[in-house]
Amino acid sequence: MSRKIAIFDTTLRDGEQSPGSSMNTEEKLIVARQLVRLGVDVIEAGFPASSPGDFRSVQEIGQLAGEDCTVAAFTRAVTEDIDRAAEALVTAKKPRIVTGLGVSEVHLKDKLRMTEDEGLERIASCVKHARSLVDDVEFYAEDAGRADLDYLVCAVQTAVDAGATVINLADTTGFCLPDEWGEKVRTVAKRVTGIENVTLSVHVHDDLGLATALSLAGIRAGATPVECTINGLGERAGNASLEEVVMAIRMHESLLDAHTDIKTTELMRASRLVSRITGMTVQANKAIVGANAFAHSSGIHQDGVLKSRATYEIIDPAEVGAVGSEIILSARSGRAALRHRLTDLGYSFDDKDFEDIYELFLEMADQKKEVYDEDLESIIQERERDVTAVYTLNALQIQCGDPLVPTAVATITDELGVKHVVSATGTGPMDASYKAIDRVVAVHGDLTEFAVKAITRGIDAIGEVTVRVTADDGMVYVGRGSDNDIIVSAAKAYVNAINRMIQTSRSRSGR
Ligand SMILES: [Zn+2]
Repeated sequence: MSRKIAIFDTTLRDGEQSPGSSMNTEEKLIVARQLVRLGVDVIEAGFPASSPGDFRSVQEIGQLAGEDCTVAAFTRAVTEDIDRAAEALVTAKKPRIVTGLGVSEVHLKDKLRMTEDEGLERIASCVKHARSLVDDVEFYAEDAGRADLDYLVCAVQTAVDAGATVINLADTTGFCLPDEWGEKVRTVAKRVTGIENVTLSVHVHDDLGLATALSLAGIRAGATPVECTINGLGERAGNASLEEVVMAIRMHESLLDAHTDIKTTELMRASRLVSRITGMTVQANKAIVGANAFAHSSGIHQDGVLKSRATYEIIDPAEVGAVGSEIILSARSGRAALRHRLTDLGYSFDDKDFEDIYELFLEMADQKKEVYDEDLESIIQERERDVTAVYTLNALQIQCGDPLVPTAVATITDELGVKHVVSATGTGPMDASYKAIDRVVAVHGDLTEFAVKAITRGIDAIGEVTVRVTADDGMVYVGRGSDNDIIVSAAKAYVNAINRMIQTSRSRSGR
């Protein structure tokens, strides 16, 4: 039997840190359910000390993860962080505290303002403290890629001696070349006493587009878990992408002497779900999960693929869930079929919520006749937005044309139930509606990105607008809205981004 490579997913922690990708607890739970279905071995559920919202997410994911999946909570090498993580993890059957420190010169000197010895002392005390609270403690050596090798070995030795069960070497800046990185991992494994009693893992970023190659180099050097995210979401250029690493291992199992337990047919759904929730579009030519990953357009390629798929295709699209058995619902499908489909998609609702969704489903089925999975997801997310909204857009009336002055009249209800009717003129219908909305809402944001997409198929498709709004403090918020009318979608998306901005600042302050 080949080595099992454990998949440590950090979409909900490192991935979520990427600008504009923040998710609320409800959204994180939806992603977590899909991660469980994918069969990941570890879910890094959040950074409990960072906000009450993150704390709650870790708690709730701990509850849903069950026996087979470890739930990890991220901390800095700070006692309070570690205490908070342990508190959040009480619900988890297999809890793990992840703690660590920058080990490169630039991290120690400029970020942490510590000497090398102080760094080692801190590693020892934090790992020991974490071990006094849970049995499973991961030490991460941040920026190991640029760290001095001798110091890295000392740091890892200190963590192993202090009782770490997992050692994670991180090329945090995605700086190394794959061979060099593999050599570094191999050397640490060789020089640290007792490393055979702990698990050695790698965590890399994609700054040079090498994240998958670096992960594989780590595996060849002896690492067994790999840390990664769905769609390679993450800080800057992102983390190693789960689907790429998993499929590369799968294609080369014997050469790598390795396998994973990931249910690859769930990869595409996971990718779409994360893209939808975060508003981070997957580029069409992205490996494994891009829209064109299995498209052949040149005549020569098409001819080849028609004669034998293997000529230009190394992966069967069905293997990653890119073509699945499609289930289409209609108005005649009934409650049982809808509930069954929702369960398959990873949602569970109590009877009252389910009835609400059933009503919305019937409305849509009347309009569209055929209801696809994407339609159901848009119903659920649109409803979610309404339930948690601070401001709700009730109505929008637009007047525009040549030579008219574009004018918008918006009706907005605030969370106290007060109805506001406002109007504004602008350079176009969108500008007018955003200005009208700005008259009611209490916060300010600048629109920095605007994208329109048909999320469902057919001429009667629903148009979804995704906007990015930058708040005065520089934080980016994604808003989404969908409607048959694209200007209404755009206005809903803007209100949604504003709501998220307010909710995030409340969740940070614990309200
Ligand atoms: Zn990272």
